[in-house]
Parts: sequence; C-alpha cells; structure tokens
Amino acid sequence: MSATLINLAYLLASILFIFGLKGLTHPRTAVRGNMYGALAMLIAVVATLVDQQIISFEMIFAGLLVGALIGVLLAAKIEMTAMPQLVAVFNGFGGGASVLVAAAALLESQLRPGAPSSTFTLSTGISALIGAVTFFGSLVAFGKLQELLSGRPLLFPGQQVINVLLGLVCLAAIGWIAADPGSMQPYWILVAAASLLGILIVIPIGGADMPVVIALLNSCSGLAAAATGFVLQNNILIIAGSLVGASGLILTQIMCKAMNRSIVSVFAGAVGGEVAVGAGEEIYEGKVKSTSADEVAMLFDTARRVVVVPGYGMAVAQAQHAVRDMAQLLQARGIEVEYAIHPVAGRMPGHMNVLLAEAEVPYDQLKEMDHANPAFEQTDVVLVIGANDVVNPLARVDDGGPISGMPILDVDKARTVVVIKRSLSPGFAGIANPLFAADNTLMYFGSAKEAILDLVTAIKET
Ligand code: NDP
Repeated sequence: MSATLINLAYLLASILFIFGLKGLTHPRTAVRGNMYGALAMLIAVVATLVDQQIISFEMIFAGLLVGALIGVLLAAKIEMTAMPQLVAVFNGFGGGASVLVAAAALLESQLRPGAPSSTFTLSTGISALIGAVTFFGSLVAFGKLQELLSGRPLLFPGQQVINVLLGLVCLAAIGWIAADPGSMQPYWILVAAASLLGILIVIPIGGADMPVVIALLNSCSGLAAAATGFVLQNNILIIAGSLVGASGLILTQIMCKAMNRSIVSVFAGAVGGEVAVGAGEEIYEGKVKSTSADEVAMLFDTARRVVVVPGYGMAVAQAQHAVRDMAQLLQARGIEVEYAIHPVAGRMPGHMNVLLAEAEVPYDQLKEMDHANPAFEQTDVVLVIGANDVVNPLARVDDGGPISGMPILDVDKARTVVVIKRSLSPGFAGIANPLFAADNTLMYFGSAKEAILDLVTAIKET
C-alpha cells in the first residue's frame, strides 16, 4: 500500500483517538469514546501490519492470541477495587515493550551497512531509559498496592545521591550508544541503570501517594512509546504515545490537586503509607454514638435534603444498586437527594462515577466536590457510605500528616452525619477520623450493602 494511504489511515486513527479521549471526559459519552479509541487502535494496527516488512505473521498472531487471552482473563477476574494495580502492570508492560522493541531495532541496525542517524540512536536510548524506569517503577507500585511489598516509604541514607549517580550513568550510556551504535553493551548498561533507578524512585513513596505515581508512570509509558515511534519511524506510535503522555500528565496534575500534593513533594516527601493507628483510641473514647436502621429512617422522615457520600467501602460491598433504590424511595417521598463525589474517593479516578452510572443513577444528581461543599450547611442528613479519608477533618490540620491539606467533602457542616462502615478502622491513609466522634455524627455499623438494604426496609416501615 502506498505511503500516502498508510499516513491517511494513521491520520484517521489519530483523529479517532482524540475524539475517543474527548468522549471519555463525560460519563454520558464515555462508552462511545471507548469505542472510538478501540476502532482507532484497530486501524493503527492493521495499517502498521500492512506497512512494515513483516516476515512472520505466525509469530504476530501467536503473540496476539496469548496477549488477548491474558488480557481478557485479567480484565474479567480483576476486582474493581484492584484496578490501580492492574493499570500499574499495564503501564509497566508498555514500558517493557519499548525497551525490547528499541533493543531489537538497534540490533537490526547493526546488520545494515552504514551508521544509523543520531535521531535513531538518541530515541533508542530514550526509549530504553523511560521504558525501563516505567517497567520497574510500575512493578514496585504494583507490589505496594497488592501488599506484596510494604506500603511504607522505604528510605536509606544516600538514596538521592545514588539516584543522581544512576541518572548520570544513564545519560553517559545514551552518549555511548550514539558514539558506538555498533555495540549492544552500552544499551544493556543503560537498561540496568534505568531499571535500578525505576525501583529507587518509587520505593521511597508511601502507599497513599501511589495513585499519583501510577498516573505519572502511565504518562511515562506513553513517552516511551513515542520515543519508540521515532526509533521505528512510525507516525501513529509517536502520536498515540504523545497523547498517552499528555493525558497521563494532566491526570497526574488533577490527582495532585485533589490530594493537595505537588509532584515534587510526592517524589521527595516520602509521606503516606501505614501510619500509627493507635491515636484513634483517644479521639474516639466515649464520644462515638452508634445508631440503627430504624433511627436513620426516622431521621429521613423529617429531612428535606439528603446527600449521599460514597467511598471505597461502597465499592467493596457493591452497594450501589441498593443505594440507588434507597435514594429513589426517599425522592418518592419528596426528599431532595444528591450524591457528593470526591475526586479520589475509592481506588481510581472516577471510581464512584463508574459505579453509580452502572446503577443508573442520573448524572445530574452527582455533584463534584466544589459544587457539593457549599450546600452541606443546608443539608439535613449526610449519609457517608464506606468513605473515610475523603471526609476526614484532619485534612484541614497542617501537620504534615498523610492527608494534610487534601481538600475534603465538608460533611461535618451538615445537621446530621450518618456514617456506614463496619468498624472504626482507618481508611487508605491509615489515620483516625475525628468525624466519627463529632457531636452531629451517628455511626451505623455494618457492611454497606446489608446496612442499606436494612435501611430500605426500615424506610418502608416508617
Ligand atoms: P477510604 O479508603 O478512606 O475508607 C474506606 C472505608 O470503607 C474504610 O474505612 C472501611 O472501614 C470501609 N469499608 C470497607 N469495606 C466496607 C464494607 N463492606 N462496607 C462498608 N464499609 C466498608 O476510602 P475513601 O473513598 O474515603 O478514600 C479513598 C482513599 O483512597 C483516599 O485516601 C485516596 O487518596 C486513596 N486512593 C484513591 C485513589 C483514586 O484514584 N481514587 C487510588 C488509590 C488510593 P471498615 O473497615 O470499618 O468497614
């Protein structure tokens, strides 16, 4: 096929990728956006297969089959709450693939007569550097989130100096590849140093900051792919890689803002992870009031406005359908019901929106934090369902704690707060929550789904 046709196909795929990303910015258009993205990828793959001098379609189809099988199994089996780990692994594989493809391209260039261009050698080095940092950084992030490694920041003396030295080794190795493209030795030295760097950059970061790290590694996997696009002189890889790189950076920035962290503080601060839990006892002692389904139903009886605040616990319990039924019951009685969504509630960006959309909760009832906060003062009952950190008033205390400075949902401003969770255990950040001991808070202990189902029964009986 002519180069013009191939480039037209790439252009079409790029446009579809961009429309796909645009679609993903709103729940109403997200499914369509996903379809555009998938179609774009199909066009890109087919055009690339036609364009390149493929010598073994068997190997490609075998790889496609094995990869698709693993992908389908993983996607079907994975719990929604383990999605960040899965994304971390996917990012990692993207980076690893860039390392291998760039290595193969360098090897192949050595078989051809004449020296390769400096663009080629430089992008080969950059592919290896970003790819290896992404692969090993993502593995550590996966290990921390899957609790195979400690979520605590791992620090040792001289860590920063070692990182700088490794960075210098990487730069020197890239220079060496450019100077002597006929040898694979500098390439593997670069990969080894970058792999170590990836591990050392991520191990000092605590579990609580891991979502930001994963978003950033996602961006890195895109940049590695874009660099590989320059190695292979493949336009769609450059464009798609840049789109992933840019959108990953934007997501990183949104998450940093939502958690009140700067990128620099994430990488240098070593905060987060498992924090002393003992402090909870004195905060809670004698002040926690528990309640029952019947009592909460009576509260609703006199309420005009109710706000539901979903969190990780609602996702674990898969309580979203029961929550929707409860909300419909309240609305049928003339009560205004809204959902207040914190940007990092749950375990992935948009987690709560996805669950509530699945339960067919109308989008106009979902309020983002900035819109929800001013209205809490006029709210009779806030029902916090399996959320903890995102409603923790300790975030307002500037003590350098794991969530210090993170914007929260100001549920404590409402007349009454009812918190549904199984115990007084902390959330992801590992710290106690004074909200549970506040004068206007009632704790309704139980697993979210059963608690809501009991509440529905109680509402029907009042
Ligand atoms: P948290 O992790 O703070 O708290 C969740 C609470 O849910 C726990 O305290 C737990 O209490 C309760 N819970 C667990 N299972 C159940 C159940 N079956 N029924 C009822 N309650 C249950 O959740 P939030 O959503 O408030 O905050 C999210 C946290 O995760 C933030 O710290 C955020 O930074 C972090 N994070 C966010 C990501 C994102 O992108 N959204 C990604 C990764 C982390 P108990 O055991 O007592 O029931």
